[in-house]
Amino acid sequence: MKILVLNAGSSSQKSCLYDIADETLPIHPPDPIWQGTIDWTHQTGVAEVVVETAKETVEQKIPFEDRSTVVESMLATVWSGPTQVIENPSEIDAVGHRVVHGGQNYHDSVRITPEVKETIAQLAELAPVHNPANLQGIEATEAILGDVPQVAVFDTAFHAQMPNAAATYPGTYEWVEKGLRRYGFHGTSHQYCAERAAELLQQNLQDLKLITCHLGNGASLAAIRNGRSIDTTMGFTPLDGLMMGSRSGAVDPSILIHLLRHEGYDADKLDHLLNKESGLLGISGVSNDLRQVQAAINEGNPRAQLALDIYIHRLRACIGSMLASLGGLDALIFTAGVGENAANVRAAACEPFKFLGLKLDSQKNADRPRDQIISTPDSSISVLVIHTQEDWAIVRDCWKLLKNQ
Ligand code: ADP
Repeated sequence: MKILVLNAGSSSQKSCLYDIADETLPIHPPDPIWQGTIDWTHQTGVAEVVVETAKETVEQKIPFEDRSTVVESMLATVWSGPTQVIENPSEIDAVGHRVVHGGQNYHDSVRITPEVKETIAQLAELAPVHNPANLQGIEATEAILGDVPQVAVFDTAFHAQMPNAAATYPGTYEWVEKGLRRYGFHGTSHQYCAERAAELLQQNLQDLKLITCHLGNGASLAAIRNGRSIDTTMGFTPLDGLMMGSRSGAVDPSILIHLLRHEGYDADKLDHLLNKESGLLGISGVSNDLRQVQAAINEGNPRAQLALDIYIHRLRACIGSMLASLGGLDALIFTAGVGENAANVRAAACEPFKFLGLKLDSQKNADRPRDQIISTPDSSISVLVIHTQEDWAIVRDCWKLLKNQ
């Protein structure tokens, strides 16, 4: 069975094709037979496309007017040209799409119908950058592959059954009625990491209390009990919670009122400030990329140092909050760009929890771990680094859904 995954973000479009045996799928993935990435940030009106198979890597810069044509020409490299891996597009059995916002409507992945497309479009109000890009991917697929079964896998779904106390903001009751609540994001990654952690720990996921730390450009934590998310740091939008690359995370809402009243801000300017000019970039003045912030710290830049100090402070505070929601902890899991690569961030995040008996193995932490336990055997809490595999999680959901229909 061949399943194509489309994962559209604001700045990139990642796609891959898996050829899977028609039996129970493992948690950990095989290699995809084809992968394509479009980077939209290269230069206005020019997309950088990289397509990879086991034998070939092809890089191209494509001038474009609308994104759909670039997506279509990238997908065509699956069945034509030097990266061809199948004879005909009809060999693709299903297509899975990462969709950022499923609102209150979807608690699980769903087969895409005209009604589902309509809901995704309506939810663009809550995810103005991502949902339209996701819909564009769905429509590009329809244009090329006709009525192939398509599945939407929502970033919000894993958190959809959070207890009301965790999901509800303490504003007015009208907010509850209008759906102004905590939705949470990165659900596919949190769920995959929880399942993979249970496998690595050789324990039943249902018996574990876990905190997953997805630390990429965007960052969020999830508190997981009985295999479900019961609390998370991102909220109504992916702006809440932790300090991120260029997003502020949670700030006192009165600061926004102050900026509106006294500094000439309007909604768009605030949106840009909080999402694009804040976080590591805003405080350091150097970059949203932690590697560059670290390099500036090594050169003695005090703003870069402050940025990292805040990042760690917020991370520790949010881990503490997830810990309290769980009322215990079996494993702390790090994933995504920062979580998988920054040993100093992991060590600093774990430091205050030593009093609970958490013991990090500093050698294992430093040795570029991947899908590994990095705590000592006598640590009361296991610490793991897991390479997140959102695309594979999407494949598994597609496969399960299509099997059960
Ligand atoms: P996205 O959220 O865009 O999917 P990633 O999960 O790929 O992002 O994470 C990207 C971030 O990971 C980079 O901005 C950078 O801050 C961080 N990162 C990647 N590699 C390293 C590293 N070796 N050391 C520290 N940070 C890293």
